[in-house]
Amino acid sequence: MFDRRAGRCVKMGSVDPIEALRRIAFLLERSHEPTYRVRAFRTAAEVVSGLDPEEVRRRAGAGSLTELRGIGAKTATVVEEAVRGELPAYLQKLQGGADRPVAAGGERMRAALQGDCHTHSDWSDGGSPIREMVEAARELGHSYVVLTDHSPRLTVANGLTADRLREQLDIVAGLNEELAPFRILTGIEVDILEDGALDQAEDLLGRLDLVVASVHSKLRMDSESMTRRMIRAVANPHTDVLGHCTGRLLSGRGRPESAFEPELVFEACRRFDVAVEINSRPERLDPPRRLIRLAAETGCRFSIDTDAHAPGQLDWLPYGCARAEECEIEPDRVINTASAEDLLGWIGQRGQNT
Ligand SMILES: [Zn+2]
Ligand SMILES: [Zn+2]
Repeated sequence: MFDRRAGRCVKMGSVDPIEALRRIAFLLERSHEPTYRVRAFRTAAEVVSGLDPEEVRRRAGAGSLTELRGIGAKTATVVEEAVRGELPAYLQKLQGGADRPVAAGGERMRAALQGDCHTHSDWSDGGSPIREMVEAARELGHSYVVLTDHSPRLTVANGLTADRLREQLDIVAGLNEELAPFRILTGIEVDILEDGALDQAEDLLGRLDLVVASVHSKLRMDSESMTRRMIRAVANPHTDVLGHCTGRLLSGRGRPESAFEPELVFEACRRFDVAVEINSRPERLDPPRRLIRLAAETGCRFSIDTDAHAPGQLDWLPYGCARAEECEIEPDRVINTASAEDLLGWIGQRGQNT
């Protein structure tokens, strides 16, 4: 009777069903399951957290959890097993390998990272509330995370209007008081419009801790126009990070890299001290290695980000770290190896240099 499962049960006494459901969701997201397939577990966790623990126990015993809206057969089984003090079988199956990083290589870089500068919540097109994203980041050992939901023009991603962004800033301020010393830095992934302007009110961009600027539309424009467009965005004093610069997609139907003159764009990044993002999303891995090397030779800084749209995706940093190390990027060139305080210091200082 002393198998791992029994040992764990004895030790834990009971398993929190909400934790079990969230852990399952995290592990599914981490292993690239699309957010909608994971939603059942996150919804069930929410339903259970709204119930009296006594009712959860009673329904688990009576087999009536599935009568509740948002709980299906699979999620009910997880709750029933947890209530019995067992490690749910589905969770046990997913745990295998969960202690290994998602990619080999880049361990030194990963160990040096203290936060993530590009993440999304359900305020735009992410799948989870800010709090759940932040709690997951904290559990991964980050000391900060920058919340960078989309800007208004990206309507497909439910981009935030100026009013909604102001509202989000208040909520983040409240969460920061509660979660200190962990820091949520305020931010945005602002669209680089066709003419290179940024898609958010000037005063609001100035209030944010960090601005990631990315191209999401008209990715096929001619090289000269795209080069001007990107350089104008990089030269904007509010821009701190240039997001996924080629826009390529590696999965599904895929998408080729945008055409632009990388020597000129990276020279602008160096001149205006804007970090070139190494985007860790497996379907992006953007920029490709040859451009990471070119940006490094040019003297640019980098930001290794997950662009997470769900808590489990926050654990994708090793994909970017492995590529950064392959391209011989040193941790001191990467802005998120800094503490939150030093990162903010750099942002304040670079504003004065340009
Ligand atoms: Zn983006
Ligand atoms: Zn993004």
